[in-house]
Amino acid sequence: MANDREVTLIPGDGIGPEVTEAAVSIVEATGVSIQWERVEAGSDVFQKYGSAMPEGVLNSIRRTRVALKGPIGTPIGDGFKSPNVALRQSLELYACVRPVASIPGVPSRYEDVDLVIVRENTEGLYSGLEHRVAPGVVESLKIVTEAASLRIARYAFELARRERRSRITAVHKANIMKLSDGLFLECARRVAVDYSEIAFEEIIIDNCAMQLVSDPRRFDVLLLDNLYGDILSDLCAGLVGGLGVVPGSNIGEDCAVFEAVHGSAPDIAGKRLANPCALILSASQMLRYLGEDAAANRIESAVRETLADTRHHTRDLGGSATLDDITTSVRDKLG
Ligand code: ATP
Repeated sequence: MANDREVTLIPGDGIGPEVTEAAVSIVEATGVSIQWERVEAGSDVFQKYGSAMPEGVLNSIRRTRVALKGPIGTPIGDGFKSPNVALRQSLELYACVRPVASIPGVPSRYEDVDLVIVRENTEGLYSGLEHRVAPGVVESLKIVTEAASLRIARYAFELARRERRSRITAVHKANIMKLSDGLFLECARRVAVDYSEIAFEEIIIDNCAMQLVSDPRRFDVLLLDNLYGDILSDLCAGLVGGLGVVPGSNIGEDCAVFEAVHGSAPDIAGKRLANPCALILSASQMLRYLGEDAAANRIESAVRETLADTRHHTRDLGGSATLDDITTSVRDKLG
């Protein structure tokens, strides 16, 4: 067992505090010793300090190098830069990784989906460069660099090699955005040459969306830019039971932040109806990153065992269990 290690904990907004508390209790139940450094980010903090992602939070992660994060909402409109985008850009968390796998017992259209989304996390249309050109006309800049495109493609191929996955699908709209998506695609092709054992294919985003819905089993690793990755992550979550069961991570050279795909779900916040499995599974990804594979495996089995029994299903899965029912069951099944 490793020595105590420090991890930054960001409870976040809405259902964030409830689901992070559940995930922390499960990590603690595995016996892995972690000292949590709890820091505040989100809309309450924005009211107090004028920033939803204060420098102190970023500094904590720079120091501990690992964070478990609850969701933080981003209101639409002026004056509130997305704290999630700020976090990923400030810490250069360039790879957003979301494994999407069917879970036996969880109602979904398909039973054997098993794919990984690898999304470029620092540029594209999320660069935040927008301005009004004239009344009634705005311009939003999509930034694509060779360096970031090569870096994310390399990450996807290395992940495929490590996880013994056999195919990378680069998703694009280079037929319309010939320069920006064209560069992203060209970089993926260049990297693919170094991985002859992994098949490489290219697909236009709209066709990809249709094929994901009609035959998701044909996909293995999806390599996408920031916007396409964001949208298809939610689509893929819908293929395996929804936002309550899909984990995620944001990986950089120096640090990593683990968080669920879902948002702050203000409609159910505080009611203890949220499904904590997505964040519990994100915490298990974190343990894997920390080299605690045995604990991660135990958590994943306990979640699978719990969800196999519909009595533990929360409202998002069509059941009536509470956050506490599901958390207790996962804890009991840790073994
Ligand atoms: P945000 O602005 O933070 O993205 P949102 O409400 O627009 O919030 P989500 O938070 O992702 O988006 O929620 C979308 C829907 O999915 C909501 O109806 C919410 O209740 C539901 N939902 C999201 N996460 C969970 C969860 N963990 N458990 C149960 N339901 C969830």
